[in-house]
Amino acid sequence: MTHAAPAPIERIRILVRGSVQGVGFRPLVHRLATELGLVGWAQNSSQGLVIEVEGPGEALGRFLSRLETERPPRAEIREIRHETLDPEGYATFEIRASDSSGAKTAAILPDIAPCPDCLRELFDPANRRHRYPFINCTNCGPRFSIIESLPYDRPATSMKAFGLCPECAHEYHDPTNRRFHAQPNACPVCGPRLALWDAKGKTLAECDDALRQAADAVRSGAIIALKGVGGFQLIVDARNEAALATLRHRKRREEKPFAIMMASIEDVRRECHTSLMEEALLLSPEAPIVLLRRREEAALPPAVAPGNPLLGVMLPSSPLHYLLLGELRFPIVATSGNLTDEPICIDEHEALERLEGIADFFLIHDRPIVRHMDDSIVRVVAGREMVFRRARGYAPRPIHSMGQLPPILAVGAHLKNSVALSVGSEIFISQHIGDLATAQAHAAFHRAASDLPRLYDTTPAIVAHDLHPDYVSTRFAMGAEGRKIAVQHHWAHVVSCLGDNGIEGPALGVAWDGTGFGTDGTIWGGEFLRSRGKSFERVAHLRTFRLPGGDGAVREPRRSAVGLLFECDLFEDRSLAPVQEFSPGNLTLLRRMLERGIQSPVTSSAGRLFDAVAALIGVRQIASYEGQAAMELEFLAAPGVEESYVFGLTDGRPCILDWEPTVVSVLEDLRNAVSPGVISAKFHNTLAEMVVAIAHYAGEPRIALTGGCFQNGLLLERAVQRLREDGFEPLWHRNIPPNDGGIALGQILAAIREL
Ligand code: ZN
Ligand code: ZN
Ligand code: FE
Repeated sequence: MTHAAPAPIERIRILVRGSVQGVGFRPLVHRLATELGLVGWAQNSSQGLVIEVEGPGEALGRFLSRLETERPPRAEIREIRHETLDPEGYATFEIRASDSSGAKTAAILPDIAPCPDCLRELFDPANRRHRYPFINCTNCGPRFSIIESLPYDRPATSMKAFGLCPECAHEYHDPTNRRFHAQPNACPVCGPRLALWDAKGKTLAECDDALRQAADAVRSGAIIALKGVGGFQLIVDARNEAALATLRHRKRREEKPFAIMMASIEDVRRECHTSLMEEALLLSPEAPIVLLRRREEAALPPAVAPGNPLLGVMLPSSPLHYLLLGELRFPIVATSGNLTDEPICIDEHEALERLEGIADFFLIHDRPIVRHMDDSIVRVVAGREMVFRRARGYAPRPIHSMGQLPPILAVGAHLKNSVALSVGSEIFISQHIGDLATAQAHAAFHRAASDLPRLYDTTPAIVAHDLHPDYVSTRFAMGAEGRKIAVQHHWAHVVSCLGDNGIEGPALGVAWDGTGFGTDGTIWGGEFLRSRGKSFERVAHLRTFRLPGGDGAVREPRRSAVGLLFECDLFEDRSLAPVQEFSPGNLTLLRRMLERGIQSPVTSSAGRLFDAVAALIGVRQIASYEGQAAMELEFLAAPGVEESYVFGLTDGRPCILDWEPTVVSVLEDLRNAVSPGVISAKFHNTLAEMVVAIAHYAGEPRIALTGGCFQNGLLLERAVQRLREDGFEPLWHRNIPPNDGGIALGQILAAIREL
């Protein structure tokens, strides 16, 4: 018998990159190293998690493979790199303090809804955190909304003011504990506390009393401003019609749907139809608002979402929301705490001022919110999720690129603004900022545009911006340091869609939206752009028409209709609904504007074409929010209609898709009393056929469907189906919004192509 020689000791250094900080990675590493009898250390750095382990080669191999297979549920590993080194002779395994030197490329995690373990403790009377609204652990809790700088450590968060009590400190330092280095760790003894204020800021109650009294106020029909994870929400009893009417009146939000929060998935099922995928989204750690189809026998009053068959529903997204809904047990409206068109408030003193006259009470706490974060919105379309508004739970997850990128800041567009920054091989996209129409929104934009470079300690060498010279974002870019790259709006939509699908190669982009500045100075919006290496070719576009009133026409579909009718010499038909909207005097004025091009810009906008058709068939003449007419047209469409209208195609560079034959047929159907639902379905089908026709014309196998119009589920699903039938590969959005929320990403990707 021979004794095997002891296996030689080796040392490896491992770098784990991705979303690996604040997810419980270090406790796992500690456990694995201990179990396998390895020594060394682990440390969070600005690049990710660095581990050194020393021991027999076989144990090291097992450590590496278990690191990957037993990764914490919230971790997203981007890359595990390791190198072999000479043994160091470590005595133990230890977790070292974070290292903040070097390039900051570690991914910051989004804010995450409470995990099952924390929820169990929250409602366990024997637990020391029973009913504590700020319970969290390494698997859940606030992240992006509390981080001030990298690496992610308590002194660099808004929790720095709260010293850990002995019990919390013990959890925080115990590598086997679920709260080991859980940065927002807190309890009723040492952590943030609730308070209930009246409208003047006077404290009425604290801690659990504040919560119970706030619940009583909601029950009695009051409007509560609640300081949530990423900002204030306005809360009312969703069943109370009078309270809903008061909220709409005070918030100056007439018809735009409210988001509803429900206590459980069972409550959601009673009110809405849900698919497996939709339920999974509701229950996901991101806990977004999911757009669901309401049941015929729905119990909530129509005023929650007037004229809308969809309802935006979410489950509680924080312990505070769980406690509140646990008290109430009925659905509440949880809409953003702002005046319409302004960003949400994050500070309670600011909220007192800005929500004065709107909220009756303020349920607040003393954990500062570092940056505002709206609730995200997703919808399941064409068999998968599509993010419409990307904020809480999603931002600032990066998009990964193949190679190293130059540092580029992209400032986005004007509506649904977001900004983006490339660092190393990742592109970080900010949370939804909103429409840059108010002073408050400008301030929020400026904050976000300086926030990302500061967080990642990156000085952008290049600033990418929209072609539109008057956008607030463009003007900001002009005043910034570094090289400027202007990116055409629809081209940004197309590359954003390709980036969302992880594709760099050739494609034909179909970018349909409301408005965007074209390279010829006209307003584009019905574009077919072929990617051509560095730039693009405008292969085709919708026939243009003049829009009387320009931007002012966005809220008046009847103006789009009149512009369209003028273009096809049908302006005089007084039998048409949008024409009847105007007095003879006004019609004369409109005609003069159109003839002379006064305040009547030329546009190829698909969004305005939707508006015009909605007005023609009498669906809506004046909209109370952007996209309302197109949404109503979508919801109206009759199921099972396969027919479509004719349209024209003029060969050329670019070639022109002519909707005039379509409009003429729509009018004919109207005269023959064909139902608006059938006309709408045929119109949607026609647009899908237009996409297919240009796909054949361009001969490009991949077709990217992007722009705000492709939030329309019917249009998207029909186009996807028809493209597939004809052998094309349709691409559409998933994680990045098809609307202008995706422009910043597109601007960076387009700038990279140009370089
Ligand atoms: Zn947890
Ligand atoms: Zn404590
Ligand atoms: Fe757009």
